[in-house]
Amino acid sequence: MNILKIDHLGIAVNSIDEGKKFWTDVLGLHFEGKETVAEQKVTTAFFPVGESEVELLESTAPDGPIAKYLEKKGEGIQHIAFRVDDIEAALAELKAKGIRLIDETPRKGAGGARIAFLHPKSTSGVLVELCERK
Ligand code: ZN
Repeated sequence: MNILKIDHLGIAVNSIDEGKKFWTDVLGLHFEGKETVAEQKVTTAFFPVGESEVELLESTAPDGPIAKYLEKKGEGIQHIAFRVDDIEAALAELKAKGIRLIDETPRKGAGGARIAFLHPKSTSGVLVELCERK
């Protein structure tokens, strides 16, 4: 498996419009607009930081994964995403090593990325996303 970098940090927020003020007005990061990923019941917004990005996640439905996260833990870092060059190869390798996968096969993420999540039970409690972008 070839991990290229930390692609982004995913932060769950109640509202992107409210949450983005810190990242733009205070830190001066560039807001690249919102994108809704319907099948994940989430709207995302990315803020580039050097080689990586901050991703804010707002739920679009009360039964979505971000809504459930906010209900349990409140706003905060929800996942960390590593960029890989070959997501299928990475998933196969992790599966062979006994890592619990939430996604056995990649799904579509924001920005045309192909993503897959690893189960926090296998990663010291951190929700890890693998992300491949061409
Ligand atoms: Zn993400």
